[in-house]
Formats: sequence, structure tokens, C-alpha cells
Amino acid sequence: MSKILTIGEILVEIVATESGNGFREAIPLIGPFPSGAPAIFIDQVGRLGQECAIISRVGDDDFGHVNLDRLKSDGVDISGIEIMPQGTTGSAFVRYRKDGSRAFVFNIRNSACGTIDLSPDALRLIDSCTHMHVMGSALYAPSIVTSILTAVERIKARGGTVSFDPNLRPEILDSPGMRDALKTVLAKTDLFMPSGEELFLFTDAKTEEVAVAELLAAGIRATVVKRGASGASYFDSQSSFTLPGFKVEEVDPTGAGDCFGAAFVTFWLAGAEPREALLHANACGARAVTKVGPMEGASTRAELEALIASQRKHA
Ligand code: ADP
Repeated sequence: MSKILTIGEILVEIVATESGNGFREAIPLIGPFPSGAPAIFIDQVGRLGQECAIISRVGDDDFGHVNLDRLKSDGVDISGIEIMPQGTTGSAFVRYRKDGSRAFVFNIRNSACGTIDLSPDALRLIDSCTHMHVMGSALYAPSIVTSILTAVERIKARGGTVSFDPNLRPEILDSPGMRDALKTVLAKTDLFMPSGEELFLFTDAKTEEVAVAELLAAGIRATVVKRGASGASYFDSQSSFTLPGFKVEEVDPTGAGDCFGAAFVTFWLAGAEPREALLHANACGARAVTKVGPMEGASTRAELEALIASQRKHA
């Protein structure tokens, strides 16, 4: 059976309960919610019952333990998370603006996860995994970049596979070395999972068809483009199609792409047909937006099947 690995940031998210432009006034907040794109992804993989692990670091504080407890209870192998006695767990404050965009205050650069490095135990954990999922957002610190590239190399060398979600926020795109690291990961990618315009990150192509053809020519086996409420599209050398999004009430979009990716990768690795994998990924992304908090809308298999069945009934 495959075992999925990811490496990257673990933090908590604290959410403003009223929309507005930022944090320059006192406002009610809720949280902490366990978070960090790689953590949300791997938690969703675990909740689907798929074997998985994450390599990261947290401080020995409540924000770290909130994450450890959640990941463990959802079945994630947390042996690769080091608890740093002198470190602090990162945090992100989020406030929705009236237009639906988000204002962030990140406190991750100097947090425990920014110091991720590979111990001998972490290398052994990497060698027990068959698939590596890379979150572009994790490539913000040189030691994490080195750790991720090492894992990608080792897993590929043993015949494993790599998926890659650029997951880029403008706040972190210009970290030193980020663009080079993204290109290096892309060259090793089997399954590319951009969101909307991220498809054009590495190309001057003007249309999706041309961009996808370039990716195929570069050795990427399949590309999945996430399209928010509109659903998602799948492209490989044999086929391409789009499935519409599920109709749900969106209360918090954070984590949708990570949960979507987790479901797609899990079904894809299990040998599901691309349509089946995309259907379940769309259902997983849709359920994720119905709850406040990045991991709070993560789904079990039964919950995905129930959403799929209910919308078939109403179709
Ligand atoms: P990201 O969070 O990476 O930017 P998207 O916002 O495109 O990704 O969301 C990922 C997936 O989650 C979408 O492709 C879709 O399947 C699902 N999704 C997101 N928002 C909604 C929504 N409002 N209604 C239904 N499905 C959604």
C-alpha cells in the first residue's frame, strides 16, 4: 500500500469574526484552529484512512499540541514532527474583506516550522513512503527547501511518485530561492495541481491547452486545475474533462484546495479512474468550505459518498 508524505509548515489560524480590512482595530477573533497547508492536506489524507506522514516542527506549546492532537486522531503518522523546546508554533491571523479576499498577518518565518531539517529518523521515515506531496507555500525557508528536495529525490529514486500544488500566496512568492525551488520540483512532478492562473506560472502560453501540452511534453503525467465553486478540470495524454463544483454554502474557503488535493491524490494512487478521483476531490473541496477553520471541514469517505449521492439525487 502507498504511504503519502508531505513536509512543511504547521501553524494555527485565528480568524476574525467580522469582515474588514485588517487588524488595526480591536475585533473579536476565534481560534486557534490547526492549520498550515501541508498539515491540512495530510490531515485530510489521514481522515480518508490512507497511510500518511508529515515532517515538520512545532514549539512545545498549546498551538503545537492542538495540531499534534488533531493529526494523530485523524490517523497521520506524527513521528516526523519534532517538538522544539525553545521554539514557538507559528500562527496566521485571517480577516475576510467585504469583497471576499483575505487579509493575513503571518507569524511563521521565525517559528519552529521554519527550522525544519532532516534528522536520521526523518530520512528513515522518507524511505518508508512511496509518494511525496509538495506544497509550494512550504518552500519559504532554505532548510525546508533542502528537506523537500531531498525527500523528492529519495522517493523518486525508489520508484515513487510526486504531486505538486503551487499554493502560492503573494506574501511568500518572493522568498529567496522560491522560484528556482518551484521549477526544480516541477521537473520531478508526476501530478501537477495548480489553482486557476497558477497553471501559467512556468510558461508564456496564452491558453490552457498550450500550457497543458507543454507540461505533458515536460514529463508531467496529469494536471488538475482547481476552479473554486466552478469545480475542476483534468488533463492527461489520453483525456481532458471538467466536472462542475458541488452546490454548497461557502462560509470559509481556507483549506478547500488542500482537502481537494488530498482526496485526488488518495484516489489517484489507489488506481481510481481520473473521473472518479476528480468527483471525490470536488466533493472534498466543497465540504471543506462549509465550516469555519481550515481543517474543520475535512471529510471521511462516508461523508464524501453521502454528498455525491445527495447531489446525484437532485441532479
Ligand atoms: P485553492 O484553495 O487551492 O485556491 P480552490 O479555491 O479552487 O482552490 O478550491 C479547490 C476545490 O474546492 C475546487 O476545485 C472545488 O472542487 C472546491 N471548492 C472550492 N470552493 C467551492 C465552493 N464555493 N463550492 C463548491 N466547491 C468549492
